[in-house]
Amino acid sequence: MSEKIKMTTLLVEIDGDEMTRVLWAMIKEKLLLPYIDLKTEYYDLGLEKRDETNDEITKEAAYAIKKYGVGVKCATITPNAQRVEEYNLKEMWKSPNGTIRAILDGTVFREPIMVNNIKPLVKPWEDSIIIARHAYGDVYSAVEIQVDEPGTAELVFTGKSGKVTKKIINEFEGGGILQGMHNTDTSISSFAHSCFKYSIERKRDLWFATKDTISKTYDHHFKDVFMEVFQKDYKEAFEKAGLEFFYTLIDDAIQRVISCRGGMVWACKNYDGDVMSDMVARAFGSMSMMSSVLVSPEGCYEYEAAHGTVTRHYHKHLKGEKTSTNAMATIFAWSGALRKRGELDEIPQLIHFADSLEKASITTIEDGIMTGDMAGQCDSPNVHIAMAEELLDEIAIRLEKEMDS
Ligand code: NAP
Ligand code: MG
Repeated sequence: MSEKIKMTTLLVEIDGDEMTRVLWAMIKEKLLLPYIDLKTEYYDLGLEKRDETNDEITKEAAYAIKKYGVGVKCATITPNAQRVEEYNLKEMWKSPNGTIRAILDGTVFREPIMVNNIKPLVKPWEDSIIIARHAYGDVYSAVEIQVDEPGTAELVFTGKSGKVTKKIINEFEGGGILQGMHNTDTSISSFAHSCFKYSIERKRDLWFATKDTISKTYDHHFKDVFMEVFQKDYKEAFEKAGLEFFYTLIDDAIQRVISCRGGMVWACKNYDGDVMSDMVARAFGSMSMMSSVLVSPEGCYEYEAAHGTVTRHYHKHLKGEKTSTNAMATIFAWSGALRKRGELDEIPQLIHFADSLEKASITTIEDGIMTGDMAGQCDSPNVHIAMAEELLDEIAIRLEKEMDS
């Protein structure tokens, strides 16, 4: 074999938990280390380490991405009460993804990995749909009250100047519920910038939709900010690239998405993106084929799989059983990060490796070798259900051929 590919800048490597941590090590050993002189700065975000460091390690990892520009992350456990007990945690630490997103102030782009023997459930879809999810505010940081007597609910803003703005939400005659949510100009504007930049980078039209006819201040502001940012900074670049920025109402967007051929970036508010990305993932195949990248407005990238740590499979693995866990999205997190490192550092061999790794992975599945989660959706009768390790070995065989050619 020829010499290993050298890297010039560190890649931030963020390890995680359970079954995906097992896959992580296998991917490195079988697919990456034979070809690349991997230069990474390693952060262990396994739950034990987060607990030991009072979650400082998560923040350090995020700042390292800010410093070096590119990171790759394994899925991690977001602790709940059961996990606190299971791992005997000092605290119910926050979601690592939430912490990293807050530091990078990024937008999450999710894209299904397509293979030719699994057809999207939505007939007209020929090309993938990338969901751009605003990852700040709205219902995710809302405050809520349940009331149990008649009374007046008001929305009050007290300005630093002393000026008070007040509106009545509802005169309750009995019990009910209330919710207050917010967003900020800075965050919406960062979201818009990230979406326009990413669309240009990927040469795709950008769609955006809200419910601005009903939410005449809140959603309308999202629309205004997008329009303003577009006119000011991206209109020319879009025209030059032959791309379109298209705004419509969310209900209109849904019916258009279902009947389009795909191929665009679909920018969604936080909740819409959460819900629609799972719909898009399932309609294209499964959650285990959904790749994900967080892009910050200043151009830092964090690649990961969209799925979790696959706990059920991990418990089987601990009992010594083999599991048919799909490593595709985690492999694509690595290939995405290595390609981006290659582009930024101008290392064509690294870009070529990333392309070859993706091609080898897709070819393996198109040859009919796939994990159980995908087998049921495959049209072809010639399907072999592979265990996690076997799938990686099959990819490794094809990768070697690809790298030799
Ligand atoms: P999950 O790990 O995504 O798994 C849910 C189910 O989906 C699995 O039990 C499995 O179904 C199937 N699945 C997901 N990924 C798969 C893969 N690669 N190959 C084969 N099947 C796959 O979600 P979860 O069980 O709700 O969460 C587990 C842990 O992950 C939680 O602690 C959660 O906090 C964490 N999580 C982390 C992230 C992240 O770091 N980005 C995201 C989501 C969840 P079957 O059991 O039917 O085979
Ligand atoms: Mg979700």
